[in-house]
Amino acid sequence: MSQLTFDGSLEGQAPTVHSSPMKESWYQGRTLSHSSISLYRTCPQKWKFRYVDKVPERPRSFFSFGKCVHAGLEYLLSNKEGPLPSVEELIATYKEGWLREGYETPAQERWFYQEGERILRGFYAKHQNDFKNVFQIEYKFLVQIEGVPITGFIDRIDQTKNGGLSLIDYKTGKAFDKSRVRNDPQLTLYQMASGELLGKTVETVTLYHLNSLTPLTVPAHSQTLVDQVKATIVEAAKGISEIKFEPKPDASGHCQWCDYVQICPAFAGKKLPSGAAGSAQEPMPKVADRYGQLDKKVKELISQRDAMAQTLLAHFKQTESGQLDGEHYSVRLTNGEGDEPTLDASPLDKEK
Ligand code: SF4
Repeated sequence: MSQLTFDGSLEGQAPTVHSSPMKESWYQGRTLSHSSISLYRTCPQKWKFRYVDKVPERPRSFFSFGKCVHAGLEYLLSNKEGPLPSVEELIATYKEGWLREGYETPAQERWFYQEGERILRGFYAKHQNDFKNVFQIEYKFLVQIEGVPITGFIDRIDQTKNGGLSLIDYKTGKAFDKSRVRNDPQLTLYQMASGELLGKTVETVTLYHLNSLTPLTVPAHSQTLVDQVKATIVEAAKGISEIKFEPKPDASGHCQWCDYVQICPAFAGKKLPSGAAGSAQEPMPKVADRYGQLDKKVKELISQRDAMAQTLLAHFKQTESGQLDGEHYSVRLTNGEGDEPTLDASPLDKEK
């Protein structure tokens, strides 16, 4: 079977991660997104852990929270033809879709739940008459930029009175000011993609800070920014296609929040960044909880994988074949220990 394993670490050595080797072509022409490009720029080694080795990361409260509030907005805005749902229907949908992953205590989860409800009620009260110009919600795009396939979702696109486009990206979390909106590379990327695919001019871009119900709008980004973002896309795609995954350690910065710090070659035999997962500073009850969560997830995944293996083995026996290709993976029948039939999965050339 295709396997990912952690070796036990020896004193002063980082455990190593093994994954089935990918063909060189796997790295070329890969579809990227704003977040994967941004991650590669922050640390190519972390990109490899996440996208090549697929080492799971801890669930985070802010991801769960952001997804639930976005889902509430999508429900509210997507029914363009019919009447607007009532605020109680909105809150019921939010409650039904609530994700519990990533919260450290029940009190923290309760606080976030109430904060999301406050945001949605406030948003409804403030904007219930403003939804006439909504053109696209959760607009999914796939576009070639300088020959690199790029995908993403744009939260909302409105049509302007001149027939142009106005892009809106909703953000939860810390407040920000207009200088971020003027320079945000994610907005630049959305501007390029929507302008090209929808054949219209993007007139304005907005980051909407949900916690304070504040939209910050600026004119479309300049050609200089567009060129800069194109250059970063090309640079990241080149690094990935050349299989360059050097770690970029920053012990007082991004490494403190990196879930891979214990298996990262940059910290092998070194003191871990303070506050990092597994460092002496991380409270042990948290480590116990995290271990329990991961253990549960691993057991669930193993059980699902074993059930699928039985289905595939039965298929191979019935069809007297030894290989089956999916869209992304090829599974082959091999002989394990004691000639027990076993399966080996390897990625096909491109992840679509
Ligand atoms: S610990 Fe730091 S250097 Fe290592 S993978 Fe994470 S971000 Fe990169």
